[in-house]
Amino acid sequence: MAKYVFVTGGVVSGLGKGIVAASLGRLLKLRGYKVAAQKFDPYMNIDPGTMNPTQHGEVFVTHDGAETDLDLGHYERFIDENLNRFSNLTSGKVFWSVLNKERNGEYLGETVQIIPHVTNEIKDFINKNADLTSADVIITEIGGTVGDIEGQAFIEAIRQFASDVGRKNCLFIHVCLVPYIGGSDEYKSKPAQHSAKELQAMGISPDIIITRSEGDCGESIRKKIALFCSVKEDCVIANTTANCLYEVPLMLHKNGLDKVVCRELGLKNKCDLAPWRAMVKDIHSRKGLIKIAIVGKYVALHDSYLSIVEALNHASYANHTNIKIDWIDSEEITKSNICQRLSDADGVLIPGGFGTRGTEGMIEACRYARENSIPYFGICLGMQIAVIEYARHVAGIENATSGEFKKDGSHVIDLMPDQNGKIIGGTMRLGAYPCAIKEGTRMFSAYGSPLIEERHRHRYEFNNEFRTRLSDAGLIISGTSPDERIVETVETSSDGFFIGVQFHPEFTSRPNKPNPLFSEFIKASLEFNGKKHKI
Ligand code: GLN
Repeated sequence: MAKYVFVTGGVVSGLGKGIVAASLGRLLKLRGYKVAAQKFDPYMNIDPGTMNPTQHGEVFVTHDGAETDLDLGHYERFIDENLNRFSNLTSGKVFWSVLNKERNGEYLGETVQIIPHVTNEIKDFINKNADLTSADVIITEIGGTVGDIEGQAFIEAIRQFASDVGRKNCLFIHVCLVPYIGGSDEYKSKPAQHSAKELQAMGISPDIIITRSEGDCGESIRKKIALFCSVKEDCVIANTTANCLYEVPLMLHKNGLDKVVCRELGLKNKCDLAPWRAMVKDIHSRKGLIKIAIVGKYVALHDSYLSIVEALNHASYANHTNIKIDWIDSEEITKSNICQRLSDADGVLIPGGFGTRGTEGMIEACRYARENSIPYFGICLGMQIAVIEYARHVAGIENATSGEFKKDGSHVIDLMPDQNGKIIGGTMRLGAYPCAIKEGTRMFSAYGSPLIEERHRHRYEFNNEFRTRLSDAGLIISGTSPDERIVETVETSSDGFFIGVQFHPEFTSRPNKPNPLFSEFIKASLEFNGKKHKI
């Protein structure tokens, strides 16, 4: 029988519930349990795929091709388990499914209601995830804040779920803000009390309350919360701001979270944290500093590139160096300022993106990196930019562009002929695809394997009509689909680092298992930095 942990949030949003859920997942996995995680998002979009990244952060793509909330990335990075299409559920998706069933007559003439039809749909999703993963523990985070109108059906569904599977098989964790008032130099427990009451009024008594505060709010505040919220004293757990995300599992462990979770759910409580501890120690003992420029169009919100930043961090741990990210808005780049903007970059990364805006600036940045041998790493749109740049400035195809950017010109990047000119809805290549790597290439030395699998999220592809011309001009096609039909990766030579990949390697990077391409990129950037200082 699986055990279920539900994580809700109180007082304000943005408390790092996702990090708590992910950390707990890792702590349980370290005990030998199979852990699955999922997130419920109360907003009405069917999925975050169509949302603006500068509002909602990046879209995280699962192995099986679901476009999901960025918190799922934390789950994968911490727990190191691939999530699936049942890992993210929005109100929009629930209603869509219920209304489709209604139109198909599946409710046999019943009046369709929030309870039981919507709540059943939500519960079904938890069960499907449990069935698909056969996990011992399913951790479900409910997005937003308790009390939000949008979240009510989800809260009601998890209340019912606990009755369905037995209360002893479920655990409710409530994460709330404990604010600090500077004037009187004290932490305040009242908002946490109110939000726990709000949850209780909806029929859920939290078993564990996690106090989220800047510093330690103190034993007496935690005791007060325990007393007023009817929670055991050792079940009020402190969660303070950590220097580095990956310290959070250690902090929560020190404060007793996993001990009480195991006790309350009847799980075994023995684990070896030594490898994780060693990893955090390594993170803090890195030496030196290199500068990586991320040239993108959504830089106003760094969370738009969350998995990329994390993958760069993971690679920096493996290479024992600190990194500083220089965020560069590609719209602000011109021929005349590029030299000054990238003069101290040790590596240039162009991430994914959609639409024309800012792409000319990216092409300038790519050209500058190539001409000055600065390690260049192009991801998805960044790969397409590299192909266009190479076509224009090396292969002499002056009007080279992408079918996405401009109607006229030589579309070295375009829709595949079988995509039939359709560009809206359901035409993206999503999820993991195999890629065959050519021996003797930089790609091969990074992955050390002739066949890999990485996740995709794009519509446009390298146009095969230009394959010979670009190859003749020196562009190395280092990775293709196994049938060689689709170009997946390009590079310029195996000694420099100028690589573009059509997929998103950032999604498979883990803190203790960096993605090989990111590792090679940081290694090359370190070498570049070293050479600069020798001159
Ligand atoms: N806009 C490009 C495409 O659709 C690249 C997408 C991306 O970078 N994720 O192919």
